[in-house]
Amino acid sequence: MSAMTTQLDGIQCIDELEIENRRVFIRVDFNVPFDKKTGEITDADRIQRAIPTIAHALERGARVILGSHRGRPKGTAVDSLSLEPCAAKLSELGGWEVFLPDDCLSDAAVKVIGELRAGQLCLLENLRFHPGEESNDEGFARDLSDLFDVYVNDAFGAAHRAHASVSALPKLIPERGMGFLLRDELKSLARLLEQPQKPFVAVLGGAKVSDKIGVIERLIVKSDALCIGGAMANTFAAATGREMAESLLQADGLPLARTLIEKARDAGTKLLLPSDFVVADSADANSGTVAVGGLTSGSMALDIGPKTVESFSAEIAAAKTVFWNGPMGLFENPAFAAGSTGIAHALAETEAFSVVGGGDSAAAVRAAGDNLASQLDFISTGGGAALELIEGKQLPGVEALRTTPRPIDPAEQLPE
Ligand code: ADP
Ligand code: MG
Repeated sequence: MSAMTTQLDGIQCIDELEIENRRVFIRVDFNVPFDKKTGEITDADRIQRAIPTIAHALERGARVILGSHRGRPKGTAVDSLSLEPCAAKLSELGGWEVFLPDDCLSDAAVKVIGELRAGQLCLLENLRFHPGEESNDEGFARDLSDLFDVYVNDAFGAAHRAHASVSALPKLIPERGMGFLLRDELKSLARLLEQPQKPFVAVLGGAKVSDKIGVIERLIVKSDALCIGGAMANTFAAATGREMAESLLQADGLPLARTLIEKARDAGTKLLLPSDFVVADSADANSGTVAVGGLTSGSMALDIGPKTVESFSAEIAAAKTVFWNGPMGLFENPAFAAGSTGIAHALAETEAFSVVGGGDSAAAVRAAGDNLASQLDFISTGGGAALELIEGKQLPGVEALRTTPRPIDPAEQLPE
C-alpha cells in the first residue's frame, strides 16, 4: 500500500462532526493575490472555494470562526496585510454579515465570538500578526484553542506548513476534521498518484528545475510521458547542447537535467522537450518562432512554439490522466501566452482526468479565458502543497487532522 492510499484515512469530514450550536473554527486560506496599485483582490478563487464548507457549517447552525493568514507580516500587525478586504469579499460572495475583530486574541475577538449566535460567523484578523503562528508555538495554539470547540481545516494552500493554526492547534482539539475543499484536493491528488489510469501524462514548466527536482523524479517513476516547457525546458535544452543564447535558464542545473534525462530513459518514461520556441530580443518584443537549436545571440526563448504545443497536445489527447504544473512561457505577457493557452485548451478537450497545481499555472488557465477552467476536473488551490504531496511528502496540516493514527511501519518506530 502506498502512502497515498492512506491519505484520507482516519480524517473526519465536516459533515461527520457534531457542529450544531458549537463554536467551530475553520482554517481557511484567504491569502489571495492583490493588485499592488489599486489594493484590490485580483483573484478571489480561494475565497469562493471555501464557501461550500462555510455555508454547510452555517446551515447546520454552527457558530463559525474563520482564521487565515495573509502575506508575510513577520509576527506584527501590518495594516496593509489586514484581512479586511477578504472579509468584504466573503460577505459579497456568500451574502453573509462578516464580523472582523481587530486581533485574533484581543478582548474584542473574545467578545465577538461570545456573542455569535448559531448560523453567524466572524473572521479573525491575520493569524501571522502573531509570531507564534509561523513558529508553530504551543502557547499561541493553546490561546486560540480556548476560543472554540471544533476544528476544521479547509486551507489546502497552507497544509504543507507546520504553522500553529494548521499543526499545533488541531492536535489540541479532539473534535477535528477537514472541510470539503481540503477533502476534494486530497481526493483529486490521490487519484493522480494512487494507481492513475494510464497513460498518465505530466506537463511541467515554470521557472526553475531545482525547485521541482523531487516532483520531476517522482513523476518520472509514476507517469508514462513527461512534457517539459517553460524556462525549465531551457535548462534541459541547454543540457543537451542546444544554444539557448540569452534565455532564462539555470546554468548550474545542467548536470541535474542530464541526470533526470537518464533517469527517464531508465524508467522507460517518454520525455518530451520543446522542438520550437517563441523568441524575442527583449521581454516585450515578440520576434517570431525558431526551431530548437536556432536561437541566435541576443535572443531568448520566452514560450514554447506551435509545433511543441501540437506534440504536447497530442500526448494530452491520448492520456487518461493528466497533471499540469508550471506555465509554458512568460504567460503574464500576452505575446508569450500562446503555449500555456494551448496546453489549457488541450486539458479542457481531453477525456482524461485533468488536474492543475501551482498558483501561476492556475492563473494561466484562467487567463486563457473561454471558460476553460470549468472544463478541467480539478484546479488545486495550493501550489506548494500539491507539489509536496506529489513528491510523496506528508503534509503537517493533513497529518494533524488524523484522529485514528495511520498504521505505523515497525521500521519507523524508535526504541524506548
Ligand atoms: P507555478 O506557480 O505554477 O508552480 P512557477 O512559479 O514555477 O509556476 O513559474 C512561473 C513563472 O515562470 C512565471 O512567472 C513565468 O512567467 C515564468 N516563466 C515560464 N517560462 C518562462 C520563460 N521561458 N522565460 C522566462 N520566464 C518564464
Ligand atoms: Mg509560482
